[in-house]
Amino acid sequence: MAENLCFACRFNPARIVFGAGSVSRLAEELSAADRHRALILSTPAQKDAAHALAASLKDLAAGVFAEAAMHTPVDVTARAMSAFAAARADCIVALGGGSTIGLGKAIAWRNDTMQFVIPTTYAGSEVTPILGQTENGMKTTIRDAKVLPEVVIYDPELTQTLPVGLSVTSGLNAIAHAIEGLYAQERNPVTAWMAVEGVRALKDALPVIVNAPRNEAARERALYGAWLCGTVLGTVGMALHHKLCHTLGGSFDLPHAETHAVLIPHTAAYNAATAATELAPAAALFGGDLGRGLWDFAQSLGAPLALRELGLARGDLHRAADLAVQNPYWNPRPVTRDAILALLERAWAGERPT
Ligand code: NAD
Repeated sequence: MAENLCFACRFNPARIVFGAGSVSRLAEELSAADRHRALILSTPAQKDAAHALAASLKDLAAGVFAEAAMHTPVDVTARAMSAFAAARADCIVALGGGSTIGLGKAIAWRNDTMQFVIPTTYAGSEVTPILGQTENGMKTTIRDAKVLPEVVIYDPELTQTLPVGLSVTSGLNAIAHAIEGLYAQERNPVTAWMAVEGVRALKDALPVIVNAPRNEAARERALYGAWLCGTVLGTVGMALHHKLCHTLGGSFDLPHAETHAVLIPHTAAYNAATAATELAPAAALFGGDLGRGLWDFAQSLGAPLALRELGLARGDLHRAADLAVQNPYWNPRPVTRDAILALLERAWAGERPT
């Protein structure tokens, strides 16, 4: 018998438009919201796509700002705020992954503008009220309804150009949201269902994408999974896994999706026994042993398996373990420095979880 039903929850209000070709509905969505001057945001790498989108919007586009960068540096946001004012924009359209979406959120945090987001990775930021930003090498996180995007357009066709390596690590990033959502203190039957459905979709889709990056059905299924996993991230609190990734990204400058990909088998293994009941449906998808099953799955996809591959020095592991236990936070299994150091050492070396 499942655990007793007893919960309190709040789901984030957002309009979701999903489907191949749905980017063509952006103009309609802007008009329906009475927006007439959109500033399009992207990274430098997606600048051409941003300009093409602006051209397709005709008069509804007020300009393109293509300087979004990982971890939302505040100096980039300051330049984007000036571009927003100079363009006399009345909303933003973020076209890209978590970095571009983060910039849109940072603008909305400052001027409460309306956000239309077109995600092109599986990171999930588009459906969370969370903004991480960096200043002087320090990453801080804000959780506020003001940064939640109002309209999200998921068009799987735009993910076809996402390189295979990033598709895999970004997909594992999404899976990590769902795994932690399963044992979250605020979980409820709906978030649990979303988490398992999201993991199942990504587990089906990612092996197909590795062999055929432009497979339409797999791209659609992966993006559907990413929406579900992101929604879990935006609805319930995260624990050890996200704390470790935040520490390694913020203090050691490790890349976001890759760090999630390397750590999720190890953090799942760490919590597997304590949260066995909650994790059981996910474990069943990976052969019964969640940590080892996820590690084998990641290996089969060609994902990075070792923190040393990402540039972390062995000598940094002690400091990383210190930082990870500095501010106490909730986790199903108590977090101790020795156990975290052992986890990090295995993840650093790329060993299969014990
Ligand atoms: P990213 O946005 O940095 O994208 C990585 C690279 O891939 C960029 O150069 C980008 O332009 C390119 N790219 C993206 N989509 C592409 C596509 N379809 N085709 C070709 N190139 C494409 O990577 P990410 O992993 O999506 O985002 C990471 C950032 O998002 C981090 O800063 C992280 O902290 C943040 N994040 C925030 C939340 C939240 O809820 N606040 C959630 C997840 C991630």
